[in-house]
Amino acid sequence: MRFPLSMTVGMAGYIAKNRLRPPPEWQKDNSSKTGAANPFRIVHHNGGPRPGPHPMIRKRFPLVLMLEPLHACNLTCTGCGRIREYESVMTRKLSLEQCLGAVDECGAPIVSICGGEPLLYPQIGDLSEKILDRDRHIYLCTNGMFIQKRLHEFRPDPRFFLNVHLDGLEKSHDIAVEREGVFREAMDGLRAAKEAGFKVCTNTTIYKQTDMAEIEQLYEYLEQFGVDGHMLSPAYGYSAVNDREIFMTRDDIHEKFRDIDRLAKRFKLNATPVYQDFLQGRRDLPCTAWGNPTYNVMGWKGPCYLITDGHYQTFEELMTKTPWEDYGHGNDPRCEHCMVHCGYEPSAALGINAKAGDSLRLLSWALR
Ligand code: SF4
Ligand code: SF4
Repeated sequence: MRFPLSMTVGMAGYIAKNRLRPPPEWQKDNSSKTGAANPFRIVHHNGGPRPGPHPMIRKRFPLVLMLEPLHACNLTCTGCGRIREYESVMTRKLSLEQCLGAVDECGAPIVSICGGEPLLYPQIGDLSEKILDRDRHIYLCTNGMFIQKRLHEFRPDPRFFLNVHLDGLEKSHDIAVEREGVFREAMDGLRAAKEAGFKVCTNTTIYKQTDMAEIEQLYEYLEQFGVDGHMLSPAYGYSAVNDREIFMTRDDIHEKFRDIDRLAKRFKLNATPVYQDFLQGRRDLPCTAWGNPTYNVMGWKGPCYLITDGHYQTFEELMTKTPWEDYGHGNDPRCEHCMVHCGYEPSAALGINAKAGDSLRLLSWALR
């Protein structure tokens, strides 16, 4: 994820503080499988084999809270697991107090408000304002269709980003979201937000069928609006989504992201350089799903944004009852082809499996 400089500095301080003194209440292991094989055993340090478990395994703390105030959405996108997995609780929503309680409980410096479509949440303006009052950064992930209608409920702030979902140019995007006209409405919203002085990013999911040349054209097209950054992540094969043909294997992902360096040189990509290396298959990273915890109407979702093996009522329970060692590539078949940012960007940001020169690359990426 790309941050403004002030945010990068704040995040660096937050990481340094928590690495030095990780909150002890989150490091306990109350899972039934204490002592299970440690996924960090595969991690190598500075290119060489590193004996024993990686020190971060007992330094768990969150970087980004994925807050889902509701799961209702006005669209039914082909690859969306949320509207399918949470179909039975689609009419429920978190109260404002529950949302803020989660923000306070985990203390992550960045809050990604997602869902569902968060602009359907009645108190979305209030919620954003109160999160900013707590000096957190916000990424509000939206399909863009209600931006124009609800923009007046927000105020521009350098810590507040609208993150508009765009999976391609007009034709491809409308096919992915299964409705004609969505791209145009999202673009109208994006333009209106930029004109009103808001920070706006785009968020693109890469599927097996995605043409990366078209993503480059999309970014070229968006340049005229002064978009503040682009997130992109490979799609994950949700068990709730029947269409298995759209998801990629790790090899497919490496091939798809082969030219990401060139894209990163031309455009403001929000993916960190280390995560880009990972997507290209140049570097191994372990999953650190606890870095991006998810809270929704069912509670704290474990182990991650993608897989649901349980919901916990407190953040401490999520951190201490989830058998983290059982997840990640090579540990759980469901994780086999997962390379999504919510599992692996925290590992990159935390400097796991770091190499000489990473800090410099990160700094020049943040300054660009
Ligand atoms: S807009 Fe987002 S939440 Fe709504 S169906 Fe599409 S992917 Fe799912
Ligand atoms: S590897 Fe992916 S699916 Fe598995 S726990 Fe990590 S984030 Fe979740």
